[in-house]
Amino acid sequence: MNLHHYDSPTYRMACQQFDLVADFMNIPQNDRDRLKLPKRSLSVAVPVRMDDGSTKVFMGYRVQHHLTLGPTKGGIRFHPDVTVGEVAALAMWMSWKCALVGLPYGGAKGGVACDPRLLSKGELERLTRRYTQELIPVLGPQVDIPAPDVGTNEQVMAWIMDTYSLQMGHTVPGVVTGKPVLLGGSLGRREATGRGVAYLVSRAMDTLGITAQGATAVVQGYGNVGSVAALSMAKQGIKIIAVSDAFGGIFNPEGLDLNQLDTYVAANRSVVGFPGAEAITNEQLLVLPCDILVPAALERQITETNAHQVQCRILAEGANGPTTPEADVILAERNIFVIPDILCNSGGVIVSYFEWVQDLQSFFWTEGEVLDKLFRLLEQAFGQTLAQAKKHQISMRFAALSLGIKRVHDAKTLRGLYP
Ligand code: GLU
Repeated sequence: MNLHHYDSPTYRMACQQFDLVADFMNIPQNDRDRLKLPKRSLSVAVPVRMDDGSTKVFMGYRVQHHLTLGPTKGGIRFHPDVTVGEVAALAMWMSWKCALVGLPYGGAKGGVACDPRLLSKGELERLTRRYTQELIPVLGPQVDIPAPDVGTNEQVMAWIMDTYSLQMGHTVPGVVTGKPVLLGGSLGRREATGRGVAYLVSRAMDTLGITAQGATAVVQGYGNVGSVAALSMAKQGIKIIAVSDAFGGIFNPEGLDLNQLDTYVAANRSVVGFPGAEAITNEQLLVLPCDILVPAALERQITETNAHQVQCRILAEGANGPTTPEADVILAERNIFVIPDILCNSGGVIVSYFEWVQDLQSFFWTEGEVLDKLFRLLEQAFGQTLAQAKKHQISMRFAALSLGIKRVHDAKTLRGLYP
């Protein structure tokens, strides 16, 4: 199979994980490429009129991994390092994630290679609208439903919904999730990923017999996932001793005051310089002694170079793909309990699914209903993953991936191969 189109460190990593799990599950060689290779990918040039009058062209992508179980689902990332290979890997992980938690979707992901922090609001809006316009043929509530990811937010989702709706001639809230509540967004969607992370952390602590009082946590990435995960863990009585963002980290062994930190971040757009904490690098942060480490930034952060130094008991993967397969082996030898990404951060796409269902029915739920249904699905997926890990004496990552991959494999077998 020629992987050239998607070849990148992250895509190779996703394939390596798949191959390891496919060997363990004895998936016939004949079925493997069909499961692994993305069904469709679209690369688009996105010309944007900049504020200074010049025109700049950005590269945009959307990859739909499989269409076997329903429409495809996954976020859109605005980040300078976005490539089609990275997007393909993230789309594959979305497939296993949706299947693991039982959502009727295949995985997708999209992205534009840009630095949204360097764009004005007007430039960001024009970029989002033109990217959406280029994607129109492959989007739709029954086709492919985007959502937020790194560098995108509710406002960006509102522009996507508006651009798509103008083309269709009527308002189509179900084309995108993670929208503002006023436009058909779901209560609880913004916080869902971080709250889900904290919920699963508490389930992992129960499993290991760790109590929240006296426990410490470190969070890499203080964006929508990391900041909410930190706050929810703090509410459980866990002390948050260090957090970081793209600019650097802060550390206070006595615990950070998150309310003050949020006020500081709102004013300064970074955690760096927060009074009452020491400065620390992202590399130092990952190896701080703590009970819970939450990587909630980008992929490939815990590798064979630092996996030996990581000093947590629970690794809760808020990000997608933060741990390489080589690091996985080291973490397993060291008995670190991993809540793998496709389980740990699945709260986001679960509530996205609820948002889509509410949009299709034009019937909206209370926050209590959303949270109740969210925790029920997380509980079920956590229980099934833990049982699978124990039954086969495999890691939590292997257990989660094997459950997700099996469902997609079974579905493909049932549907058969046309013609
Ligand atoms: N970007 C998020 C993820 O990686 C959310 C996707 C969604 O809600 O569709 O899971």
